[in-house]
Amino acid sequence: MLPVGQVADGHQRPIWRDNGDPMRPTFTPSVLARNGHRMDRDKKECWCNFEQRTGRKSPFKCGICHSFVTAGRIQFLSDSTHELAWQTFDLPDWS
Ligand SMILES: [Zn+2]
Repeated sequence: MLPVGQVADGHQRPIWRDNGDPMRPTFTPSVLARNGHRMDRDKKECWCNFEQRTGRKSPFKCGICHSFVTAGRIQFLSDSTHELAWQTFDLPDWS
């Protein structure tokens, strides 16, 4: 299961525009993926206490991944909880 993608204004279904250049795509608006207690509706039962609740090892961590894709480069914004926050990377070749 992957985290549910959400656009920054809170709509459940991302609606992305691209700039028509498949080699250097730009997606607008930014892409926000939230997982576990970082999701508004899931505060009590999250991955942080999964192990306690079920006795099984948690396969995921609660977190936020917030990114912009501009001209073929992905930038992770500062509110991302993972270690790639603030960094920008070239997208892999999708063709
Ligand atoms: Zn949590």
